[in-house]
Amino acid sequence: MVRLIAAVCITLGLAACQSETSAPDISIASQNANDTRVAKTLFGAMPTGSAQRPEAVGGYARGCQAGAAQLPETGPTWQAMRLSRNRNWAQPETVDFVQDLSRFAATQPGWEGLYVGDMSQPRGGPMLTGHRSHQTGLDADIWMLPPKRLDLTVAERENISSISMRRSSGAFTNDQWTPQHEAILRAAASDPRVARIFVFPGAKVAMCNSATGDRSWLSKIRPWWGHHYHFHVRLNCPAGDAGCTDQAPPPPGDGCAEAQGWVDRILNPPPPDPNAPPPKPRAELTMANLPGQCLGVLNAD
Ligand SMILES: [Zn+2]
Repeated sequence: MVRLIAAVCITLGLAACQSETSAPDISIASQNANDTRVAKTLFGAMPTGSAQRPEAVGGYARGCQAGAAQLPETGPTWQAMRLSRNRNWAQPETVDFVQDLSRFAATQPGWEGLYVGDMSQPRGGPMLTGHRSHQTGLDADIWMLPPKRLDLTVAERENISSISMRRSSGAFTNDQWTPQHEAILRAAASDPRVARIFVFPGAKVAMCNSATGDRSWLSKIRPWWGHHYHFHVRLNCPAGDAGCTDQAPPPPGDGCAEAQGWVDRILNPPPPDPNAPPPKPRAELTMANLPGQCLGVLNAD
């Protein structure tokens, strides 16, 4: 997938691509250097967090989490969705952030709070399905669907769907997009705990066009594939997490010209590059590919 994304990025001339995907092609393992077990199978089977001091370990797409907290399934201003996935686990700072953002969302007309999608597995790590990142307890998907009720049953939370905000393949927002979406995204991006937010290109351009006053928060809003049923919030490494690897910060400036470039390429796709290497299926991460500390997270009580 690194190769595929790289090829797409080269083809489309997307300067930001490499900075978003964040999996260095190096092994940073130590005690599990020869451990060829597939990490997603092991981490996907862990039912609860580890009884350890909370710590995000490794990179967003190559790591794990110790001492995770569980976002309560229902709170005064949020509900966790798709409970069967057991992905409402994250670092305590992420859980705090999601609750804080949900309180802000609840001040917006038409929003009772937030519907929270995938965070991380109880011990983080690679997942059996979906998501390349979300491995360190610092990523959270927030549904675009404005919550009308916060008393959804478990079954309803399995079955109802979010709604798409895009038209023209993501070049533009559709008629479901509201000023409240922009206010919530702006609040999230203005939070110093947040490193970046992924959303479809048309949404970023819409916010670029309507933003007034300070524009510095726009730099954290990053155009990306998909992300029209939810937006994805990524936090910085919490202070003191020595084994946590931050991404390079987004480029300076509001990033609006870059987002417009994404839109232009959606509307007028460049011809495929005949020299692009064929996409290669991504190898599964093994325990040896993860930081050595993740073996301890896996084996902890
Ligand atoms: Zn996500």
